[in-house]
Amino acid sequence: MIKIDNFINGEFYPCGEYLQGQNPASEAAFYQVANSSAIDVDSAIEAAEKSFYEWSTLDVEKRAEYLLALAKLIDENANHLAKLESLDTGKPLSLAKRVDIPRSAENFRFFAHAITQFASLSHPTPSSLNYTLKQPLGIVGCISPWNLPLYLLTWKIAPALAAGNCVIAKPSEMTPLTANELAHLSIEAGLPKGVLNIIHGKGSQCGEYLVGHSKIKAISFTGGTDTGKKIASRLAPMLTKYSLELGGKNAAVIFADCDYLSMLETTVRSSFTNQGEICLCTSRIFIEKTLYQQFITDFVEKVRALRIGKPLDDNTQVGALISKQHLQKVSHFVEKAMHNGGRVLCGGKAFNLEGKGYYYMPTVIEGLDAYDEVNQTEIFGPVVSIIPFEKEHEVITHVNSTTYGLATSLWTENLSRAHRLSAQIESGLVWVNCWMQRDLRTPFGGMKDSGMGREGGFDALDFFTEKKNICINFQ
Ligand code: NDP
Repeated sequence: MIKIDNFINGEFYPCGEYLQGQNPASEAAFYQVANSSAIDVDSAIEAAEKSFYEWSTLDVEKRAEYLLALAKLIDENANHLAKLESLDTGKPLSLAKRVDIPRSAENFRFFAHAITQFASLSHPTPSSLNYTLKQPLGIVGCISPWNLPLYLLTWKIAPALAAGNCVIAKPSEMTPLTANELAHLSIEAGLPKGVLNIIHGKGSQCGEYLVGHSKIKAISFTGGTDTGKKIASRLAPMLTKYSLELGGKNAAVIFADCDYLSMLETTVRSSFTNQGEICLCTSRIFIEKTLYQQFITDFVEKVRALRIGKPLDDNTQVGALISKQHLQKVSHFVEKAMHNGGRVLCGGKAFNLEGKGYYYMPTVIEGLDAYDEVNQTEIFGPVVSIIPFEKEHEVITHVNSTTYGLATSLWTENLSRAHRLSAQIESGLVWVNCWMQRDLRTPFGGMKDSGMGREGGFDALDFFTEKKNICINFQ
């Protein structure tokens, strides 16, 4: 049984209480993770406080070197990290190898380079000079979810550290394994003690305490919208900075003039990668009526051909869902869809392998109105709903009808239409003729209930710094 302790001041500390960690594909309990209390969070904050001056005043080139060393160590340990990620989440090992782990290394590499280019402005006049410092905030909290554990945690930790902050990271209690490995790698990279601290445990316990701590200068949070709203309501009266990356109900909008084969292959991927457990996954497919029947036939055939299996098997394309509760949530929405008049074209069932595991078959539904609850609520699983449309203005109204606004894929070869509709779509990210094509320099985040603020590139470095203007009078 693996035991996961808190990482505080460069060392591993046992905790008073532990939670049981499970492999969602085999249902085997295979690790115990610290269930931290306020005392553990206080210790981490104390360590971070002691390290802040030295870290924040270190030359940026030197800080960048530490991040590059971490990136290199992640690359060197990629296979081991990918296996842990797959065991902890139920995602296919091949996906963790191809996406999660390389991207985690890339997050450190990217922000190591970005910080060296993070310039200040100066505004001279004949009689004065204004210049603006961008100073680290102090101790910041980074809270991440279970679906892309190391990928999303490092997406926060890397810019926070690069900008000179000390970090208290809180991974999801359901997926702490790779965060724990990162702690080990940070020791190997020689990261000064107390700069990165990792606290494990329940969000409702140590997470809430961290958020409300008066010494925390900012919270970067990725997770569900309800949790995000709770965090915002806690932080607003304290005037603590926050950035929220929340849920989505993403659409693919497909016009008959699109590159059909590319659209078809990408839409299968955008709907079912990571069992649909990516905040950017497509869950509503709006398709121009003239293409509807052909699309349904081809799409369902391709979805049926997806290889569902044990996450560690090389051939597996769809693995297990994160937990029994999540499986029940997904099942509940598919039952609701049928109750509301939807037709399940494929999938629609939970199943297990050799009597174990929280698997759900990739599911395609048609016949639901765009305003049906199933088309308005985030399911966060392998379920898509297909809705035909005839007119541009009609589909844009449908796309914008949810409370969410994270990502939309638009498929058309008509350039004017692509520009026109991209501007009208209410989502933080619009992909034209592609999906999840990421450039880490670009702002990442959602509108409406999908979040507040933007991560990525200099936006992330802006978030983790405070601007201070200094005016020098020459007269
Ligand atoms: P949750 O909101 O339940 O949890 C996210 C993190 O917050 C976890 O570490 C959790 O800890 C912690 N947490 C829970 N309650 C509190 C609290 N009161 N105070 C502080 N921390 C708390 O989300 P899930 O983990 O279920 O993740 C799925 C959600 O994340 C989906 O809605 C998905 O759309 C969204 N998401 C958004 C992304 C984006 O970029 N917009 C990317 C990926 C996911 P614990 O798990 O230990 O309870």
